[in-house]
Amino acid sequence: MTLSPRGNWNYPTTIWAGAGRLDELPSATQRAGMSRPLIVTDAGLAHHPMVARAAALIDAPVHADVAGNPTAAHVHSGLAAYRSGRHDGVVALGGGAALDTGKVVAFMAGQTRPLWDFEDVGDWWTRADPAAIAPVVAIPTTAGTGSEVGRAGVILNEETHQKKIIFHPLMMPKVVILDAELTVGLPRGVTAATGLDAFVHCFEAYCAPGFHPLADGIALEGMRLVAQYLPRACDNGADLDARAQMLAAASMGATAFQKGLGGVHAIAHPVGSFFHTHHGLTNAVLLPYVMCHNRRVIEAKCAHIARVLDLEPASFDGLLEWVLDLRKRLDIPHTLAQIGVDDRNAAEIGREAALDPSAGGNPIAVDAAALESIFRASLTGALPSAA
Ligand SMILES: [Zn+2]
Repeated sequence: MTLSPRGNWNYPTTIWAGAGRLDELPSATQRAGMSRPLIVTDAGLAHHPMVARAAALIDAPVHADVAGNPTAAHVHSGLAAYRSGRHDGVVALGGGAALDTGKVVAFMAGQTRPLWDFEDVGDWWTRADPAAIAPVVAIPTTAGTGSEVGRAGVILNEETHQKKIIFHPLMMPKVVILDAELTVGLPRGVTAATGLDAFVHCFEAYCAPGFHPLADGIALEGMRLVAQYLPRACDNGADLDARAQMLAAASMGATAFQKGLGGVHAIAHPVGSFFHTHHGLTNAVLLPYVMCHNRRVIEAKCAHIARVLDLEPASFDGLLEWVLDLRKRLDIPHTLAQIGVDDRNAAEIGREAALDPSAGGNPIAVDAAALESIFRASLTGALPSAA
């Protein structure tokens, strides 16, 4: 077994990184000001030993009614458990679904308005009573979403087939534990898909327009870490060094995308709403199609990324070729058709993608027609020529 790095960081929140640090959960909940925490985790982890260990460490009940692409029903079920147990904080432990659901449950704990009133639209977040937002300790068991350092949760509205972003600055977890031992059991396919989600977060943030050198610097190093360590984590799931670096890269992706995301996420959200595809996998498939569409305005940035990743040639084409090779090496399909997506909702997916807040971060303006054409290209596998 390899050594795993360790560190305590204070931005964008308090982060304790290092193998075995789940043991420090009692200090984390205490620091977050909780005395009666509720653990929120994924249904698939309900009986996992690490969840039992967390529960024993802080003597807290486990709520595991959470599935991938979590819905309002999952939030309401969590709220019912939270209120009936008279809890005063949430320990969100699991993949992106558990982290997002746990954060939204803590956010909604003391609110009187309905969930969808807090969608990330304009200043709707100011509708929330900040004093009623419960604290969260976040412990990711995948390395991709970065939700542990995010100020939002993505919840599916099943009535409208829309993934809604519920946002509030105080949804940022108070303490994050990045324990690489918790990710060693992740299967190779999930490791690859979630790891590429982290890469896409960094890539879209770096390519998003706007002056934000902090985000750009974090995004570049995040991409370098994914390039160096994701293949290692996939080859040997017990490589604690690679696992620790990927957890860091995932947190860096979500830190960087405060700057913005782009077309990959704008399309992946409605695709996930309609077809229930895995978020990271959907992004991993979509990335090269969106890169090609945006090529005209991101060539210089892609050349810089290629230099940071030490690619030959250090150009857009060098980076594109590397992305395609990495996807192949990690057994990521080339088309969305290969993951069960078809064109029956293509026009609606284009329209929804244009409405998704991520679309505004795309480096060139994209409307419903452009997003639909990128989506259609990703079904057939034809990389589009630059817009
Ligand atoms: Zn993502």
